[in-house]
Amino acid sequence: MSNAFYLKYRPQTLEQLIGQETVKKTILSSFQNNKLSHAYLFVGPRGSGKTSTARILAKMVNCEKSTVYGLPSTAKQAEVGSRKSEDITIPCNKCKTCISITDGSNMDLIEIDAASNRGIDDIRSLREKIKLAPTASKKKVYIIDEVHMLTTEAFNALLKTLEEPPSHVLFILATTEGAKIPQTILSRVQKLDFKLATQGELLEALERIVKAETIDIDKEALTFLAKRADGSFRDGVKLLDQIAAMGEKITTKSLEQNLKSGEFQNILNLIKDFNDSALALLNINRQLESGIDAKALTLSLMDIFRNLLLIKNGVGEALVSPNFTSDKYQDLIKASGNFTNQKITSNLDILQKALEKLKFASIPQLPLELAVVEMCSLEQTIDDRKLKVVVEDSKIENREEINIPSSIVKDLSSTIYPPPSSSDSSDISKLKEKWTFVLETIRPFNFSLEALLRSINITECTQNKVLIEVPYSFHQRILEAPKNRDLLESIISDILGRNMGILVSLGNRPVRADDIANIEVAEDDEIIRAAAEIFNSDTVN
Ligand SMILES: [Zn+2]
Repeated sequence: MSNAFYLKYRPQTLEQLIGQETVKKTILSSFQNNKLSHAYLFVGPRGSGKTSTARILAKMVNCEKSTVYGLPSTAKQAEVGSRKSEDITIPCNKCKTCISITDGSNMDLIEIDAASNRGIDDIRSLREKIKLAPTASKKKVYIIDEVHMLTTEAFNALLKTLEEPPSHVLFILATTEGAKIPQTILSRVQKLDFKLATQGELLEALERIVKAETIDIDKEALTFLAKRADGSFRDGVKLLDQIAAMGEKITTKSLEQNLKSGEFQNILNLIKDFNDSALALLNINRQLESGIDAKALTLSLMDIFRNLLLIKNGVGEALVSPNFTSDKYQDLIKASGNFTNQKITSNLDILQKALEKLKFASIPQLPLELAVVEMCSLEQTIDDRKLKVVVEDSKIENREEINIPSSIVKDLSSTIYPPPSSSDSSDISKLKEKWTFVLETIRPFNFSLEALLRSINITECTQNKVLIEVPYSFHQRILEAPKNRDLLESIISDILGRNMGILVSLGNRPVRADDIANIEVAEDDEIIRAAAEIFNSDTVN
């Protein structure tokens, strides 16, 4: 796919950055007051300008015209005064350092894509190199993109560097998934939130390019493009690039035809492939490889299903037919025969969700692929659901017949039957779903706590408390230790998106010798205490 316009019009100063007023203000005032943090975390959806801002910041600290950053505070005071009258824009984008950052040849700007360098060895080698002074610039700048993809061990190694970074280093971490960043990292960085551009802001940016490149496009068509880009500067510019290459006067009508016509037959084939998920996945990957982006493809699929829905409900002649040639309209009518109203609305639901997820996806086609698999299995799901009910019925019968001990029934019932309040149950299932993430986050800090958390039971979740049931009182003591409690509470709060505390209670699980396996990785003294508690609970105390 062509990237020419995107690279050419990528913002090179904070002023050129679209939207992001808070981010701009924060960076600018810290910069002017010589109070930049040594580590930033940029959080926001794809295409919101995180990487561009990171490179601008790298230029700001290293620009040869910058007299503010890095000077002793007395000199800084004098400089601030004189700088105002000279009014130099920093970065200047003209000095050797600025240019070397723009063209990617600067040795002191190190960009790491955590999605492909996510291991402990990558971070270890980074830690080695970090000690060396910058070769030609004032600061070594490390940009770690998609930082949430780092393994737990790599996070842990990075943490040590973030704790005591050499003074010549600036870290800029970027992620689409803020919720996946461990609290321990968050507490050592300054977090800045990026938002998608509004349609107006995007339109303004596209207009700038249209003027500079003298592209023949009317305002209505440009608005259509801005809408299609859905807040992403990158997507908008790429679309404009694609359209401009056609070289003719661009109107909404020609835009609609050109963005659609190439895809129409492919999309129709795709929905015919829905009875075979392998075929459907191959189909979308073929289309993505040919340069259509995942968002455009998702929108086209939604568009087709919307048309099928209108046809199904008897307004095809009035609302669909005028937008298509008669051949295409007949194809649509034929396709509508394969879908029920219910199936079409379910598919639209699935696609709508995929579109939302797309904004934050680190693998851009993944939400669409998942949606396609889900749509392909739609019919199957209905059969599965019937089956599940039968299985659960038989489970209930069994339970009454063989009289399983009440403690186990309690476990079973919490998984089979949803708890009474709906928000409660969705919180619990959210936590259960993310429990592996909780364990992975805790492991590097505290092995025994992680091991313990493998055998707990979450019984209730209120507005601000998670009730955790543990089998032994020493488990309760470990969990209630302030350090452990803080760690667990911060992770749970992150997952649920609100301030949560934990309440630990003892479950009435029978004492059995093999349960000691659960604590095999606990520290020595804890094992001894645990053993004492389990085996001599009557004699100790
Ligand atoms: Zn410069």
